[in-house]
Amino acid sequence: MSTLNHWFEIIKHKEHLIVIREKLSEIDPRFHTIYTNMYLLLGSHTALLIDTGCGLFPLKPLIDELIGKRKLLVFNTHCHWDHVCGNYEFNEIYIHEKEAAFISKPINISNLKDSSKDIVKKYEKNNFLIPPAPVIKNLKEGDKIDLGDYNIEVIHTPGHSPGAISLFTDKNELFSDDTAHYGAVFLPKKNKLHEFLSSISKLMTLCEKKESIEIYPSHEEFPLGKELLEELYNKINNIENSWNTKQKNKDNFLRSWIIDDGKYKFVISKI
Ligand SMILES: [Zn+2]
Repeated sequence: MSTLNHWFEIIKHKEHLIVIREKLSEIDPRFHTIYTNMYLLLGSHTALLIDTGCGLFPLKPLIDELIGKRKLLVFNTHCHWDHVCGNYEFNEIYIHEKEAAFISKPINISNLKDSSKDIVKKYEKNNFLIPPAPVIKNLKEGDKIDLGDYNIEVIHTPGHSPGAISLFTDKNELFSDDTAHYGAVFLPKKNKLHEFLSSISKLMTLCEKKESIEIYPSHEEFPLGKELLEELYNKINNIENSWNTKQKNKDNFLRSWIIDDGKYKFVISKI
């Protein structure tokens, strides 16, 4: 079942899993991305919200309604603005220890000022500086979270950002942050691609032991099968060979090269 409030699309994907999407393309098309996905996991006594999105419209009232009497935990998959700008609505946020300092300060999103979409004017009231949550707590590799009848493990997957995390559940779901999805995949500089590749490889090893895995990425389509991981690994591993097909990012907004094969658009940082 899918419902749309004035901004968020709310999809009751499973009894225990609600997807909340916002259209990043309606905020700034220069990210080459249509959707940002947030996930709300409902355990018997605790709910876990994965990411807080772009912060344009109130998210917390919606979450409070969806979780009922459950306790709420809020995690950020990583510190990029499209995943953390709703943090200030919540009292306490968990993030990997490498990115805790970054989200403890206001997030500067002044690079969105030149977006072609008028909606970014809503950020003017904060002068494009999004306040942090009052309390920031650390996560690290191997941390386990008990939601009651639902257990989750933290997997550190650096590459897209130094403290990116994926979450693996005992219901064979993998929340793959910005490490594995279709569409525009944001990669570090060419000489640092090995780090991104080892994170994908780590996820492949985890999934190998399981017969059926559903992958829930933080952008675009969901759920995906584990074949995504191998395909992505091979394509990123082959970037060196397709380097002569790279294009300039025409507005220079992201300071990146683009290699587009129709299925994936690799956005490779120049800095
Ligand atoms: Zn993202």
